Amino acid sequence: MPAFQLRIPFLAGLLLMLASVPVHAQSGKIVIAHRGASGYLPEHTLEAKAMAYAMGAHYIEQDLVMTRDDRLIVLHDITLDRTTDVAARFPGRARADERYYAIDFDLDEVRQLQATGGSLLVDGERRAGYANRFPLGRSTFRVPTFEEEIELIQGLNHSTGRDVGIYPEIKQPEFHRAEGKDISSAVVDVLKRYGYTEKSDKVFLQTFSYPELEIINSEIMPRAGIDIRLIQLVRDPNAYPWMFEAEGLRMLAEHADGIGPAHPLIIDPQSTPDALRFTDLVERAHAAGLDVHPYTFRADPGQLPAYAESFDDLLEQHYFSAGVDGLFTDFPDLAVQFLQTR
Ligand code: CA
Repeated sequence: MPAFQLRIPFLAGLLLMLASVPVHAQSGKIVIAHRGASGYLPEHTLEAKAMAYAMGAHYIEQDLVMTRDDRLIVLHDITLDRTTDVAARFPGRARADERYYAIDFDLDEVRQLQATGGSLLVDGERRAGYANRFPLGRSTFRVPTFEEEIELIQGLNHSTGRDVGIYPEIKQPEFHRAEGKDISSAVVDVLKRYGYTEKSDKVFLQTFSYPELEIINSEIMPRAGIDIRLIQLVRDPNAYPWMFEAEGLRMLAEHADGIGPAHPLIIDPQSTPDALRFTDLVERAHAAGLDVHPYTFRADPGQLPAYAESFDDLLEQHYFSAGVDGLFTDFPDLAVQFLQTR
């Protein structure tokens, strides 16, 4: 009898332990929350990041741009008009192209703005980019600084005992340089201050600009005394044609630890459910020692490629048929659940 009485709690404890093993420890594959849980709450708000954290994302993304007073804010565009009420709050502050550039505003001005999900201008009116997502103009949200967001994620890591990573992107570094700002050095300084200094730390730093990636790896990080993982984003194969030549990814691997390609570069969008056409990108990247984290996986109505019959199908095709190491999604809960069932 004592053996029996002991066995039940032991088994229950074992099951609990197994249930709490992080998903990526089992499959090695990661879920990156693209702009947070942006399928459910306004992109890049702290609320969207807390929700992504609670949904079990392994990494949470920050797009970064600079203000006039040299602060890093978490914002996808270099302009404020798609995701805030800047036009109503600061009329007259647009440039000649009628856009409101974050770099023309001080942080205390950005703090006065209401953040929303992405909007489109239709016949002079703001409409939600995705009709099924969080409604425009409801409740109240702000544009956070990079430091505020890191403190949110590190604070949650402290209170939950988890170890969720960050995945910052340097937006349009050439634009920032032309405006007299070295955004990459500013980002590296903040990362160092918050303890992200080695390749084993839970951070990937991403950018579309190869020249900037090279400067970060060969000048900015050595000067700061840090060495973290870098991701080259790839959208247009014609941006740097050499990357797609035979030795291209091996050359890239001198400065990068992985690539973040648009998913049509992995599975040809002309594929059908019965005839998937994989490119050789994942195989060549892995041969060069690079991780592959494609973007962006969306479960909204009308967003599935024709070759996928469901969102799970799309995840299966990329995570396991194509063999990617992680992916960016606006719906981190769905990707986490998918990996748990797999
Ligand atoms: Ca991004």
